[in-house]
Order: sequence, then C-alpha cells, then structure tokens
Amino acid sequence: MTSVSPRSFRNDPHGFLPQALAGFVASHPDAVWNPAGYISRRTPVVDVNGRPAVAVISGGGSGHEPMHAGFLGAGMLAAAVPGLMFTSPNAVQVTEATRAADAGRGVVHVVKNYTGDVINFRVARQGLPEVETREVIVADDVATTSDSGPGRRGTGATILIEKIAGASAYRGDDVDEVTRLARVAAENSRSMAAALTPGHLPTSGRYTFDLGEGEMEVGVGIHGEAGVERTGVTSAHETVARLAGAVVDDLGLGEGDRVLCLVNGLGATTNLELDLVFDEVLRHLADRRISVARSIVGSYVTSVNMAGVSVTLTRLDDADGDTLVELMDAPTAAPAWPVTLGVDPTPADATMVVPEDVPGTADSAVNQWLTDFVAGVTAAVDDLTELDRLAGDGDFGTNMEAAFGDLPTPVKGTDGEVLAALGSRLFIRAGGTSGAVFGTMFREMATTAAQGASAALTAGELAEALTRAADAVTELGGAKPGDRTMVDALVPAAEAARAVAAADPDAAPDLAAVHTAAIAGARSTAKITASKGRASYLGERARGVIDPGALVVAWLFGGAGKMD
Ligand code: ADP
Ligand code: MG
Repeated sequence: MTSVSPRSFRNDPHGFLPQALAGFVASHPDAVWNPAGYISRRTPVVDVNGRPAVAVISGGGSGHEPMHAGFLGAGMLAAAVPGLMFTSPNAVQVTEATRAADAGRGVVHVVKNYTGDVINFRVARQGLPEVETREVIVADDVATTSDSGPGRRGTGATILIEKIAGASAYRGDDVDEVTRLARVAAENSRSMAAALTPGHLPTSGRYTFDLGEGEMEVGVGIHGEAGVERTGVTSAHETVARLAGAVVDDLGLGEGDRVLCLVNGLGATTNLELDLVFDEVLRHLADRRISVARSIVGSYVTSVNMAGVSVTLTRLDDADGDTLVELMDAPTAAPAWPVTLGVDPTPADATMVVPEDVPGTADSAVNQWLTDFVAGVTAAVDDLTELDRLAGDGDFGTNMEAAFGDLPTPVKGTDGEVLAALGSRLFIRAGGTSGAVFGTMFREMATTAAQGASAALTAGELAEALTRAADAVTELGGAKPGDRTMVDALVPAAEAARAVAAADPDAAPDLAAVHTAAIAGARSTAKITASKGRASYLGERARGVIDPGALVVAWLFGGAGKMD
C-alpha cells in the first residue's frame, strides 16, 4: 500500500492545494483568499450587536477539512490559515492573518498542539506587539498522554474550542474571557481515535501509513502518525469501549458527570457507521452514568480520507458547564458547523416492528404448492442475489429472504390465506422493486383466491388470478414483455393458465403447463439486449444472465429453486 496510486481527483499534484482552496473560497459566500496565505471574511468581525469583536483565528496543515476553513463565519472563526498538506502554516501567514483579523479588541489563536503549529503561531504573536493576542492550545489526544515529549496532540476537540471561542467573541466577551472559556473547554476535552485504513494524500499520491487487511490502528493521530497499538479489527462495540473508555478514564469522569460528545469521522467513514458508533458511545456513557448534554456526529476533523473515527468528550464542570453549552448552541454562519446538535441524547431504539403474518392456524392443512415455492426461493437466496449482482444491484435475494426467510414451513392455510400472507410479507418486509412488484402480484392472486369457494385455486381461478396479477404489475411498473423483468414470465404464465382453463375451468390447474410457458419466458430474459426497458441501461452486462424476478415467477408453478 505504499505505492503511488491515483486514488484522488487531481491535476498536477503541485497545483492541488491552490486549486482546492480556490474552489473553497468560491463556494463560501463570506470567504476571501488573501495572497499572503490566509482566508479571511468578507464581513466585518463584529459581535451580535454590530460592535467590533474579538477575532478568533485558527490554522494548521491542510488535509483536515472541513477544519479549519469550513468554520470560518460569524460566530466562529474570523480567519483560517492553511498550511501545506499536513504541514503547519508559516509564521508570516499567521502574522498577516492576525493583523488583518484584529478589529481592535484582540485576537485569540486556537492552536492544535503540534510543535510546528505552536511555534509558528508563537513567532507570529511575537511579531505583533501592537495587537492584543492570546493563545489557546488544544491538546486532547489521550493516545499521546505522556510525561515527556510535546504532550498530547490536538485533534477532534479543536472544533469544539473554535466554536466556544467564536461564540464567546460573538456575544461580545473581551479577549480575556474568550480565552478563559476556550481554555476551560480545551483543558476539559479528551479524544481518542482508531483507523481501519490509512489516508491517501492527493499531493504525493501516497498512503499516510501501511495497514494490512484486517488490521486496526488504535490511538491514531490525524496526520497518519503511528497509533499506540495495532490490533486486529474489533467489533464497533469493543472499539468504542476502548476509545470512549480511555477518554472517560483520562478525564476521570464518573457517575453524574455531564459532557459534550463529538463522534468524528476521519474522512472515509460513512455517516451510517458514525451513527452506529455514536449509539455505542451513548450506551457506554449511559452504563457509566455519564450524561451527554450536546452531541455532534459527522466528519469534521479529518485525515484526508482515512477510514477511522475519533471520540471526543468535553467535561462540563459546575462553574462554566452551562455557559459552554450555551456557546455550543449559539448560532453561527460557519457552513461546516451543524445546524442542529443532539440535545441531551440518550440511547434510543429504532427497530422496525413487523406483524407476524403467518397464514392459517395450527389446525390448518399444509399447503404443499406454496410450501414448495417458499422453500425453493429461500434455499436459492444466494443464487438469486448473484443474478441480481451480475445484472442489477445485488439485493434481490436479500429482499426475498427478508420476505420469506422466517416463514415457518410447511406453510399452512388455503391458497387464498397463504397468497395473502406472501403478498403482505413482500410489501412489509422486503424492499426494492421486488417487494412492491411481487407484493402486488400475490395480493392480486389472493384477492381472486379469496372469492373462490374451495381451499385450492381451480384452473379458472388461477387464470383469473394471474391475469389480474399481470395487469396490476404492468400498470404499476410500466414494464412490458421484453423489458427483462418478471413480467417476461408472468404474462406468458397468465396466457398459459387461460389456455388450460379453457378446457375445464373447475378442474385443478395443470401447473406443469403454466410452468413450461413461464420458464420459457424467464429464459428469454437472458437473451434480451433490447434498446428499451431495463435491458437498455443494463446493456451487455445483462446478456446471458436470467432475470431473477422472472425465474421466481416461474418457480411458482414448478422447479422452485432450480437455477435454469
Ligand atoms: P431493485 O431494482 O430495487 O434492486 P430487486 O432487486 O428487489 O429491486 O428486484 C429486481 C427485480 O424486479 C428484477 O429481477 C425484475 O424482475 C423486477 N422488476 C424490475 N423492474 C420492474 C418493473 N418495472 N416491473 C416489474 N418488475 C420489475
Ligand atoms: Mg436489485
């Protein structure tokens, strides 16, 4: 994984950052690029009453977006100073940004604890005796807690400190109060991160470190520095216990404590995963009787596109806790700050409750016809999924499994009862096109069956049921024969059933004859390379692949589970 690989959208690597910054300032209505190397605001640095305000500025290496520039805006940062990729900005950039941002009430530097950042911001302040400046160091990463060395790194907590300082400035606080509150927040904040993949630098085309398949880096920083430990990938539950546990212990949190909580993605972690991690964090904290006053879940402090997550907690103490919450809640125009935060979140339950939908009663007779069908479909779930993967999106089998997987077999009840249950299971449990389309087919068949006198469909009733089903499905989804859908089996099945019924509508239906027509229709879907319908956008990919929906329709009449 150390090799140079083109895993980024880029042009000339040297032009990458200037062009990305150009895109950023163009997209942000309040951002102005200054050629001295910083982004400032178009609007004046004023407080909520329009009077000059303390300016809060931050900066650091690029690669952590949306931090810092995304937090530029009224109520947060007055300027952001981007360095090169993962490299601190130089002192001259910081000096110029500080001078420009000062509205006469002083400037607070929010600085992540890396030697390069700390000393460049320090040199900048030394060169500006005419500006009232303050420094707030963010050093939250418990993975780097040690007595010697530069101390804890600054990571996820940075955006919380930027928000608290920015909101304090915006409500009109003076430079000492802005600094004091920001320091209270910084001192009470700790984070810990784990990564499943390294990040990939668009500038060098290289991965930030090596991590083997199935390995996890625990205690990782945001520059791709080594973590404290490399382990096998653990469950989210265990990973969170490790991360949140370390943070809780380092802060010495216990029963009755209140915190701010940030679950932060490191660039390539999906929002769904972050939501799951947040649920785990909430449960972990609830178990330890720690309550969360405000929460944020999202990717804010990234390490290019590292697949990883960090957990940050900020203790809310008695003296300033309520003020910090107020400052978190205060509005800001910064585009990367979330419009809504979690408010007093507690572990929730989001399971979907579905009705049981088992047809018949214990005394009902076994319905062999539909038992064979259900057993055949559920046994072939993987093969059906494979067909859909080859020419669709690979969820068809999963949808069938969701509908029928937990239906006890043998299935009991009349044709009408079982067809109705299959239909409602498809509607309620399965997703995708197939849930609605097959749900409609079974619902229509059930309606006909319910009108019949006997437990089993007659030939005439089957013909009517399939005709109704084919009409309803074509009406619903607009597919015609030849469009490579289940309609290619359903329409011939209905035709064959009508032919069978013509001889003796009251006899039991000749399912084999219907199957012959339906399976021929299903097989025809493998040959279709039509220029219309679904086949048109599947194109050559679908050639030779039988449509799984059409196959399942044919299985209703025989050979259920046979992959031909
Ligand atoms: P999705 O398209 O949402 O991934 P599934 O994979 O669950 O849906 O179902 C795909 C099946 O649905 C196909 O195999 C095809 O038989 C059927 N299908 C797709 N579009 C239509 C349509 N317009 N009318 C009837 N059946 C359709
Ligand atoms: Mg699909």
